[in-house]
Amino acid sequence: MEKPDTLESLPIAVIGAGPVGLAAAAHLAERGLPFRLFEAGNSAAANVLSWGHVRIFSPWQYNIDPAARRLLSDIGWQEPLVDELPTGSELFEKYLLPLSEHPKIQPFIHYRARVLSVSRKNIDRMTNRNREAVPFVVRVQSETISQEHEFRAVIDASGTWQNPNPILSDGTWTSVETTSSDAITYGIVNVADVPDRYKNKEVLVIGSGHSAINSILDLESLKQQFPETEIHWVMRKDTLSEVYGGGESDALEARGALGTKIKSLIDTDRVSVYTPFRIQEVRRENGKFTLIGSQFDQLRSLAGIDEIIVNSGARPDFSFLRELRVEFDSTVESVPALANF
Ligand SMILES: Cc1cc2nc3c(=O)[nH]c(=O)nc-3n(C[C@H](O)[C@H](O)[C@H](O)COP(=O)(O)OP(=O)(O)OC[C@H]3O[C@@H](n4cnc5c(N)ncnc54)[C@H](O)[C@@H]3O)c2cc1C
Repeated sequence: MEKPDTLESLPIAVIGAGPVGLAAAAHLAERGLPFRLFEAGNSAAANVLSWGHVRIFSPWQYNIDPAARRLLSDIGWQEPLVDELPTGSELFEKYLLPLSEHPKIQPFIHYRARVLSVSRKNIDRMTNRNREAVPFVVRVQSETISQEHEFRAVIDASGTWQNPNPILSDGTWTSVETTSSDAITYGIVNVADVPDRYKNKEVLVIGSGHSAINSILDLESLKQQFPETEIHWVMRKDTLSEVYGGGESDALEARGALGTKIKSLIDTDRVSVYTPFRIQEVRRENGKFTLIGSQFDQLRSLAGIDEIIVNSGARPDFSFLRELRVEFDSTVESVPALANF
């Protein structure tokens, strides 16, 4: 009869081959700990590739994990220049792809493998007895079959990108939103790839972060070719100066430059801004959206919108961790503390 594996002899599961999952894999490989990495996409960094055309504002020196750097250096990798700012595609090609192909990582990655659930073997979340002594069971859906694998530990690096926040300020979803996927997009749109969708339309961008700024700058390029494109921007900030960031004195030069660019578009009326605007309701009639919200305790509405791009952030998906006792920060839903390596 085959001897059952001890808990310590089992590998560690990593969920997601984004920058964080691959860095975790590098640390595990460096320590000689066995692991398997499950990635839902066709390649490493599937989420990063979905916004590959966008240039990030952190220079290379902040984007490379130390363990990953050590592993890659061993195989003659040429580190990118520390001060350059990569696009998402360059982050993939120059760093995340070679890392995923490293001989100590590549054999242990499974692509097109989505983790459906993580539980403790044979016990649900209510059971205390023997809890720490039994393995984690990870159920994975690959192309045709769902399989279960046992692990001694699990690292969830599935990110947040696939779970965007909704339009309403209170964070809830409405039926108008869930049934309007033809005219509402979440995340970064490569406007240049789909100009017909946005040209000469009334387009609303929601959110105040850098994703929103990137969306607006892309729409502005379209507006230069198709001047009847109208760009509307709704956010919750009390003042616009909070959005502009540090300008020339920003700690990250590229981030400051984005703020400076967006300020000049607003100053020249290329973009109509509504802030603070807390959206309470979305209606859609004859294909046009109307948003109703409060601005300084007054109700106001914004009508005649053809297309909405929602850039109001994203949050983790805990649904596949339901049978575990997971702790997270009750406000931002991050881990409650950082691990000490
Ligand atoms: C436009 C843009 C610009 C940015 N610029 C910067 C910047 O300048 N500086 C900075 O520090 N950060 C920046 N960020 C943020 C940074 O990109 C993210 O913090 C980072 O990508 C997060 O990495 P991650 O590995 O946690 O998640 P992700 O990159 O989202 O990777 C998660 C991976 O998990 C996979 N996955 C998800 N669910 C499952 C599942 N159930 N089973 C299996 N696999 C799964 C996904 O397919 C994906 O490959 C930017 C983000 C965006 C969108």
